[in-house]
Amino acid sequence: ISSAKRRIGFRLVSPEGKRPIEILRNNKIQNLVEAIIREGSRHAAEETLARMTEEKVIRVNGAPVIKDGKIQGAILVFHDITELRRLERIRQDFVANVSHELRTPLASIKGYAETLLDGAMNEPDTLKNFLSIINRHAGRMAALIEDLLTLSMLESHHLPLKLEPVDVRALINAIIQGLEKNAKDKGLALSADINDDVSSVIADRVRLEQVIVNLVDNAIKYTNSGSVRVSAKTEDNMIRIDVEDTGIGIPEKDISRIFERFYRVDKGRSRDLGGTGLGLAIVKHIIQAHNGKIWVKSISGKGTIFSFALPLNSSVAA
Ligand code: ADP
Repeated sequence: ISSAKRRIGFRLVSPEGKRPIEILRNNKIQNLVEAIIREGSRHAAEETLARMTEEKVIRVNGAPVIKDGKIQGAILVFHDITELRRLERIRQDFVANVSHELRTPLASIKGYAETLLDGAMNEPDTLKNFLSIINRHAGRMAALIEDLLTLSMLESHHLPLKLEPVDVRALINAIIQGLEKNAKDKGLALSADINDDVSSVIADRVRLEQVIVNLVDNAIKYTNSGSVRVSAKTEDNMIRIDVEDTGIGIPEKDISRIFERFYRVDKGRSRDLGGTGLGLAIVKHIIQAHNGKIWVKSISGKGTIFSFALPLNSSVAA
């Protein structure tokens, strides 16, 4: 009991000679012990115990101690299954989220297709309009499935990094060129500021490109006026890249969750912009696979800076 109490986090008072309820202050565990002693058989219970700052889920397995055919007492084994339960919950939430995200565009596709079949297809303007909506929703589903597959491969480590020296300056310039039109369409200035000390880094070129494209694309999406700037410099044997925007920013309360799968500050807005809510989760995975780190600073209404750093002398396992 003493060691269980320490693990579960109860204040330690001398447990000898006391009943479980007096020490653990828990009815379920007291009942468990009583049942074991009464029936002389094994029992188990699961209980959520509140500690000072956190909750712990404990599984208690108990068996009777029998000597000379008589029940002498009970032996209890405490397992801390908090982490197990947390992972189970994440998995359940994930499945629920995926189903919901797929169901929404699918319902639209079905709705528009049915309306067309019901006769709307005979009006050429409506036909074209509805087909383009169907096409957009199908595109959303395809993007979501693509992101899910990438994430799943990253998480199961089935996506080995193809490490090679990557010219960071050339990569950033090419990305800026590719996204220039998106920025221009919104009236945003997109620029790069690459320090002279920046040369190449050992990384997976495709994945690194995916990271920067994602961050710049987000910066453009979530900025209504002003500018988006990508800067790169060398710092503490790392290459550091910042993507800075003058956009809508991220409220303080959301910042810690922004890298979670499907976490979005404004679901409607993200969807309208074609977002899947998986981009930053993918970005974080890729950075971690390169032994790098990523962080974000943001002021709501003012703008956001996403920063990441990759080790220059990479010892990344390929
Ligand atoms: P999404 O597909 O929704 O863009 P992400 O994982 O890329 O998914 O981003 C998650 C959420 O983080 C976005 O929905 C948005 O609320 C917020 N976000 C990401 N980048 C920015 C940014 N530069 N400025 C403001 N909010 C951002």
